[in-house]
Amino acid sequence: MADAEIIDGKVFAQKLRSRITSATEIIKQKYNSTPGLAVVLVGEDPASEVYVRNKGKQTTECGMVSFEHKLTDEVSQSELLDLIQKLNNDESVDGILVQLPLPEHIDPQAVLDAINPEKDVDGFHVVNAGKLATGGDALVPCTPLGCLLMLKDYFGDLSGKNAVVVGRSNIVGKPMAALLTRENCTVTIAHSRTKDLPSVCRSADILIAAVGKAEMVEEDWVSEKTVVIDVGINRIPAPERGEGKMRLVGDVAFDEVKRKAKAITPVPGGVGPMTIAVLLRNTIEAACRRRGWDLPDL
Ligand code: NDP
Repeated sequence: MADAEIIDGKVFAQKLRSRITSATEIIKQKYNSTPGLAVVLVGEDPASEVYVRNKGKQTTECGMVSFEHKLTDEVSQSELLDLIQKLNNDESVDGILVQLPLPEHIDPQAVLDAINPEKDVDGFHVVNAGKLATGGDALVPCTPLGCLLMLKDYFGDLSGKNAVVVGRSNIVGKPMAALLTRENCTVTIAHSRTKDLPSVCRSADILIAAVGKAEMVEEDWVSEKTVVIDVGINRIPAPERGEGKMRLVGDVAFDEVKRKAKAITPVPGGVGPMTIAVLLRNTIEAACRRRGWDLPDL
């Protein structure tokens, strides 16, 4: 039995970024304007700082304008809401992203819901969640949309595939299930109360693991026809790398599952690299919709 095909998210993200760069250039020439993405960071969480730096770097590399707003963790909720309002009213800002998590004294949903849904490039606003659920033209959360783009690239048509999504969060599991339903898959949403999860997963043509439990999905949870998309990012001890060292693993026991499944995304290097590229794609889409521009091919 041959090993699973490895779906390389880095290569895929690179191709998407080059399409975004071309789309940005077309927009500049046609409309004499440049799409802009504003990222708001509150506090000094080191992981969030790295994400925000990468987002800014990739935004400018693709030819778009990056606006960074760094606020101390002492900022009040009303000051943060004032900034969101300013960005909502700023014509040069097409996408607004507030980096999560926020400090405890700030209600994240109040902040996310203050973003103009037309500029909500994370797709977390209740209007976009509702549009996605009811089949409207939504801005869709980046991670599940990245998974869908990889699946469409792999399969072409997804119609009639059995998809199992493990996890039902608002940012990954639910929008993932809605996207797969839109593509005419037969979708099962599994979660912590699902009975006999391994056998539910074994029936899948497409298995999405979005749980947050290191290497939970084992070899006997998949069949030879399963394409596995591992969304999980878990940090586990790696004593083989030295004392106190850690390494990243997904929700799937990669080394054993790859011996059986049809295809699989690795962690790191699978879904993760797609997320920022899709954020930039959403920014172009938001700009075109709001400003009435033709959307170039992405
Ligand atoms: P949440 O914690 O919000 O949701 C986890 C889901 O998994 C819940 O629906 C929960 O079920 C379910 N679950 C928990 N334990 C089990 C179990 N033993 N069996 C079956 N289901 C279980 O996580 P997120 O959706 O935010 O994230 C999931 C993972 O994806 C995390 O590792 C996160 O780091 C990663 N992630 C990666 C991103 C990327 O860019 N690659 C982006 C976003 C997230 P219940 O609802 O019943 O509690």
